[in-house]
Amino acid sequence: MSSEELLEFLDNTERYFTQQRDLFGNVVYRDEEVKKTNVVKEEVQPAGKPWVSVQSLAEFDRSINTCVECPLGTTRLNFVFGVGNPDAEVMLIGEAPGAEEDARGEPFVGRAGQLLNKILAAVNMKREDVYICNILKCRPPGNRDPEKNEMETCTPYLYKQIELIKPKFIICLGRIAGQWLLQTNETLTSLRGKFHDFRGTKLIVTYHPAALLRNPNWKYPAWEDMKMFRKAYDDMKAK
Ligand code: URA
Repeated sequence: MSSEELLEFLDNTERYFTQQRDLFGNVVYRDEEVKKTNVVKEEVQPAGKPWVSVQSLAEFDRSINTCVECPLGTTRLNFVFGVGNPDAEVMLIGEAPGAEEDARGEPFVGRAGQLLNKILAAVNMKREDVYICNILKCRPPGNRDPEKNEMETCTPYLYKQIELIKPKFIICLGRIAGQWLLQTNETLTSLRGKFHDFRGTKLIVTYHPAALLRNPNWKYPAWEDMKMFRKAYDDMKAK
C-alpha cells in the first residue's frame, strides 16, 4: 500500500468511527446489526442525574456545582448551593442569588443577608443553626426575577436539599419562593401570617428581606410572622 493509500485508509477509518460514535455512542455498528443489549442498557440508564442517590449535602454540592442545565450556568460567577447546618430544623428559602452572592458563592450575604441575620437573631437563632438557600442556584443577570423554565430546571436540586436536610420548618422569603413551593398565584398578603403544608413540613411565607429594606412598614408584619414561627418551633421542642 502506498503512503497516499494508507493516509486515505486512515482518513476513512477515522470518519467511519466518528460517525459511528455520533450515531450510537460507544456501541459499534457491524453488518446492519446493532448490539441491542448495549443500546437497551443506554436507554434504561440515561447519563442524566447521578446525584439522585447521593446521601450528603457536601457530596450533592460537589455533584451539581458545575451545572449548565439552563443558560444561567454560563453567566454565573459561582454556583450558590446553600449554607448552614446540614441537620437544620429550619430551612430558609429565597429566590435567587444577587450580585454579591454570585461573587462569593454564598446565599444572602449582601444587604438583604445582613438584615436576614438580624431577623434570625430576633428569634434567637443564628445563621449557623439554620440552612439557607434559594430556588435558583445561579444569578439571573441584572437581578431580574427567575423565569419559570429556570425554576423548573433548578427545583429538583432544591427538593433534594429538602430531602437530605429534612427540616421541621420551611420559611419562604418573599412571594416568588412562596408561590413557587406552594404552586399558587395567591398574593404574599394572603400567603403570610399562617402555616401551610409542604409535603408534610410546616411552611410559612414572609416578606423578603430586600423588600423590608425598600419598605420598612412591612417590618412589623414580618416580625409577627417570625414570632408565629418561633412559637410553633418552641411548641415542637416542648413535646
Ligand atoms: N435574594 C435572594 O433571594 N437570595 C439571595 O441569596 C440574595 C438575595
